[in-house]
Formats: sequence, C-alpha cells, structure tokens
Amino acid sequence: MRIGRHARLVGLGIVILAALGCAQDDGKDKPSTTGTPVEPPPEPSADLSRNIQKTRLTVDLSTMTGTAVIDLAGSLTGTGASFEATGLEIEGVSRAEGPLKWALSQGQLDVGVPTSQGSAQITIDYKFKEQAQFEGLMEKGSTLVWPYFCGNLFPCHSDPADGTTFELTVTSTPAGMTTVYPSTIGIDAPPYQIAWATGSYTKLDIGTTFQGTHLVAYYLPGGGTDAQKGTERLVDIMNFYETMLAGYPFGGEAGAIAVDWGAGAYGGMEHHPLWHVSTIAMADPWIQAHEAAHGWFGDGVRPACWEDFVLSEGTVSYLEARAITEVFGADEGTKLWAHYQTRLNTAMAGTAPKIAWPEGCGEVDILKDQLFGDIAYMKGAFFFRALEAKMGKAKLDPSLKAFFLKNKGKAAHFQDLLDIVKSVGGYDASACAAAWLRSEAVPAEQVCP
Ligand SMILES: [Zn+2]
Repeated sequence: MRIGRHARLVGLGIVILAALGCAQDDGKDKPSTTGTPVEPPPEPSADLSRNIQKTRLTVDLSTMTGTAVIDLAGSLTGTGASFEATGLEIEGVSRAEGPLKWALSQGQLDVGVPTSQGSAQITIDYKFKEQAQFEGLMEKGSTLVWPYFCGNLFPCHSDPADGTTFELTVTSTPAGMTTVYPSTIGIDAPPYQIAWATGSYTKLDIGTTFQGTHLVAYYLPGGGTDAQKGTERLVDIMNFYETMLAGYPFGGEAGAIAVDWGAGAYGGMEHHPLWHVSTIAMADPWIQAHEAAHGWFGDGVRPACWEDFVLSEGTVSYLEARAITEVFGADEGTKLWAHYQTRLNTAMAGTAPKIAWPEGCGEVDILKDQLFGDIAYMKGAFFFRALEAKMGKAKLDPSLKAFFLKNKGKAAHFQDLLDIVKSVGGYDASACAAAWLRSEAVPAEQVCP
C-alpha cells in the first residue's frame, strides 16, 4: 500500500456491530447421501485459530448480500470456528446437510462445525454495508480492507498469517457500469488482498511480459491519458521483477485499476492481480512500480505478523527504486532516492515510533501504534540499499529470489529473509538490520558494515 502525505490515512475507529447472541435454530438435518448417519450440528464455540483454506465469495451489489463458502482445516476434536464479522449481519450458516448453529457477539461469528478428517466446508449467508473510507466497501464503489477490516466485507481472519485462496463473483452491477475484480486468487493470499471496483471502466491493453503475463489497466471516464502514462513502461517493470525474482505468482493477467479515493488520497493498494491506484496517482509510474512489486512481497509472500510489515513495504519500496532505476535510467533513480531521503527525514522528524521492525508477534496494532508509516517504508528501503552496497546486486538479488521461491504463497518473518541473505548471499546482516530497523536512529553509514 502507498498513500501519500496528503491522504486521509486509514481511520482508527472500528465499528462494533452490537448483534449479540443471535443463536439460530438448527433445523432438521437432511439424510446423508451415503447412508451414513450425519453428526448433529454441535453448539457454536470460539476458535479463531482454525485455518481458513479457501474462501469463495458471491456478492450481490443490489441487495448488499453475500455468500461465503469457506473451507476450513479439518479437526477430529475441535468443533469451533470463529470469524471476524464486525460489519456483517449474519443470515445463516450451513453445511451441505443442513443448517449449523452459530452465534454473533461483538463482531465475532462463532460456528459449531462437525468434526472431520479432511476440510470442513461451511456456507455463511450475510448482509454487508457501505463503510467509512478505507474500511470496507466505500462510497465510490471500490473496496479496501487492509489491514484488519475484512470483517466489514466478508467473514474472515484478518491475521495475515492465515492466507486463503479466493474465488469471487460480483453480481447486480448497476447498468452502464462494470465491476472489475479477479475471479480467482489461486495461491494462499493475505485476507487484505481481495477487492473489487465498480465504475464506468474502460480496459487498456498494455502488453505481455517475456514470461507471458498479460498486462492491463482499467480507467474511469477521462482517465485514459493518465492510465497510459503511468503504465507506459509497466511491461519493462514487470519484466524486471520476473527476471530478478520469479514468474508473476497470481495468474496470466495483471494490472492496475483506477479507483476514486477522493481528492487527497494519492497512492495505491496491492490488490493483486488487479491492484488499485487512486485516479490522481494513476499517471505515476513510481506508484505503479510500487504496487506491482507487491505481487512478490506483501502478497506473494505475506508478513507472518504485523511486526514483519517491513518485509512488505520496506522490500517493496527498495524494489520500486531498483525497477525505476533499471527502466527509466540512473537520473530517475537518483531523483527517486532523493525523494525517499526527504520522506525518511520527514518521518524521522515526526511523532510516530522510529522502530521499523518491532520485536514480538501479534502485539502491535499497525494503525494505532503507527507502524503504518514511512519509518517502515523508508528505513526498510535504505536498509536494503545499504545491504546492496555491501553485498552487491550479484549476491543480494539471488537471495531475494531464493527467499521468494521458498515462501511463495506462505507467511514469513523478516528474520527468514535475513536467514536466506546469510545462507544464499553469504552475508550475516543481523547487525546491519538491527542498526537500521531495530534502533531509533538512522545509521550514518550508507553501507552495511
Ligand atoms: Zn506498498
């Protein structure tokens, strides 16, 4: 994600839907088709750690209803499964054989799921509603649930460690408009990755990478020139990432969708394979390069904890600089790093905490504790620049590639990346990472020791 300084940052308030204790009658189970007796539905109980494997969403924009068919990890002992559903009105939960028992309390949906050897599939029918800016479905028709607002749009676990594959179908788009979204995300992805955008879209064909990824852009009325300008070299940018890291992980078609986030919100969001860029930033190739890089870091490999946020934004800010320098030349690269220096200086002069990579896991609130900000983005970028100056691209790049290939579709810690820099690149970056990312200061040396 990248939202400029004029953006109204993601709001801090969480709307607690006061729908307490809506336990349902379980109804009568249908007989099993195999003739084996069907276990009666268990009472609902809480278990937020139950892994979500697959999320199939069907959403109706006219009735504002959704159906989520969710595959959960099987369990032979536990019968609980919980979901974040803060902004949802639950209409029913069922399995193939009939209704399941559930309860909704303080935004958490608890379901009683019969034990099973393999995956357990449940269907949740719900209503959703429009939310405040950047907290779900927004007024202008696009969605954004990063970092933990997915429960305003579909039943989910916002914890980025729990990835899920997605299928999405959006119906009842208003006449004259199109809803643009990926129908499938085929490898485990963080819950904040899925999104859609509704508007009067025109599709622009950008070209195809060496590895066969077809690139597109969708723009709103009057946005054709900006879309063209911002994506003019996107094929080269994507070729750079695919060559340096690995093939694009989210299917054969990718690109940018222009979204109306309002006058002050300059930036984008990593909704791969169709990332969102605000209409006012659509012409900016730096933003496009940034969001594109999230296909590998932030989405393709997701942070295991919010404390590992620098694994997403620090790495991506560095990759953005590498790609821009490679494709647009050294002068543009110098300009970009000067811009980064200004952002770093501004962040250092600000009031947010100065640690880019806090210790622990699951303790920090990325918004309230202000980890979301340029300390993580810019200290992360400059750390990698210092690492590159020490190791050379010839050793750093294969380390990043090895890390990506090992962790594609998985959650990883920033430490895992440092471990691979050591094993593949032959350099122990612990002290340099501590100096840049775990201390409040900015190291005077621009090269790792
Ligand atoms: Zn980003």
